[in-house]
This record gives sequence, C-alpha cells and structure tokens, in this order.
Amino acid sequence: MQDVTTHAQIRPVTPAAPGRPRLNAASAVLTALVFGLVTFLTAPDSPFRAVTPPPPPPPAPVVVQAVPKVLTEVRGQPGPRTVALTFDDGPDPTWTPRILDVLRSHGAVATFCQIGNVMAAHPETVAMVAAAGMRMCSHSRTHDESLSTRAESTVVAEIVDVRDRAEHVPGADVEYFRAPGGYWSPTMLTDAATRNLQPLGWSVDPRDWKRPGVDAIVAAVQKQVHPGAIVLLHDGGGNRSQTVAALERLLPWLSAQGYTFTFP
Ligand SMILES: [Zn+2]
Repeated sequence: MQDVTTHAQIRPVTPAAPGRPRLNAASAVLTALVFGLVTFLTAPDSPFRAVTPPPPPPPAPVVVQAVPKVLTEVRGQPGPRTVALTFDDGPDPTWTPRILDVLRSHGAVATFCQIGNVMAAHPETVAMVAAAGMRMCSHSRTHDESLSTRAESTVVAEIVDVRDRAEHVPGADVEYFRAPGGYWSPTMLTDAATRNLQPLGWSVDPRDWKRPGVDAIVAAVQKQVHPGAIVLLHDGGGNRSQTVAALERLLPWLSAQGYTFTFP
C-alpha cells in the first residue's frame, strides 16, 4: 500500500538525476512526506495535537519550616535608640508595684514575664501590670528549668498557661514566651511560635537576681546597653530592692542618652 502510494506520487515528480538510482528519489520523497506529516500533527495549532494529554502540574513546593529564633533585640527597631526592659519571675505583691511606680514616674514601659502559679497567688498584682499598660510574657506555669526535657504535652501546657490565665484580666496582652532559665529546645521554640507567642530572650543581663549591688547592676546595664537592646531584670523570685534602686538611676540615665522605652 505504501509502495503504491509512493510510486503514484513519484511519477509526476522531477525524474531522478541521471546515474542515480530511482530508489534514492523515492526515499527522499517518502522522508519528506513523513516529515511533513509529523510537522503537521505536532504543530501548535494542529487539531491532532490536542489528543496529547496536557503535562501534569508541577508538584507543590515543599516548605521547610525553620525553627523559630529567640528574639534578643527589639523587632523593627522603629527608633534609633530604643530599649526594651523585661522583668521576670513575678508578679510579686511587694516589688512589682514598686517597679510599676518607677516606670510610671519616668514614662517608661516594660514587659513582665510572669509565672502562672505565681499569678494564681497574686491576681491583684497581675491586674495592676495590665492596667498600667505593660505587656505580659508567659514564663511558664511552674518555672521548670528542665522544661526542655519534658513531654511535649507538658511543654505546651506550661507555655499556654499564662495566656489562659490572663484571658480574663482586663487589658492583659500576652505576646511572648520566655523559657525558664533561658533553656530552650527546638520543640519549645516551635510550640511557642505556633501559638503566637514570640520566643523572647535578651541581649543585656546585669544578673540582678544575684543581688550584686545597685552599683553593679547600674554599671552592667550602662556598659551593655545599645539601640534595640532587650534588658533582663527581675521583679520576682526574692528581694528586688536592688533592682528597684538601680531602675531609679537607670531610667533617667537612659532617657538622657536619648533612649526611648518600647516593647520587644
Ligand atoms: Zn525566670
């Protein structure tokens, strides 16, 4: 059949060159016909081309979630000289109100990293912190410094406890989680971040909890502070008279240096 067709079409075509076998001319024409047919069938506007199934959609890109980072500097740094003061281990019915007084008298704001069990014992102090326009930070329910070794269900319960307690406190705003002792695990970071609690660290640590003396606390902050710094201080966990006295000196000094007080 193919031979006949080919032969029939060969006849009117220009005769083969003298001395060359006729078969060569037939092959050339056949090749041209096949080539033309293939070109026609595969042309972009060929009706036969639609028979070819469309290529499968590309696979969805695999999104690898990075482990969230601990915040150690103020986000965004809206001003050239901002500083974020943070107070841990409260609320304390004695020291937290005194720290609030010092902050208020200098127009400063701060973030209070509170412990759930301590909040339960001093709800009136929790309410004072919220009413003063300060922000709050979960510092876990029990301040278990080995939290990174516990089962994930325990970790989650410890992290969200403070926010759950603060839910019924007017004005309370819990946006952060700070690991007890600053001991993080990747699981703790992810568990906090996925519950919209920013993992919170610090970049200035005068170790006021060791009560090194007011001068030492003041000097350490003055030496380490820088624009965007997050300062770790304590309003709970013991006698915080040195912290209060240091704050009375540091707030006017920071203001004189051009610092404004902000949240992390
Ligand atoms: Zn603590």
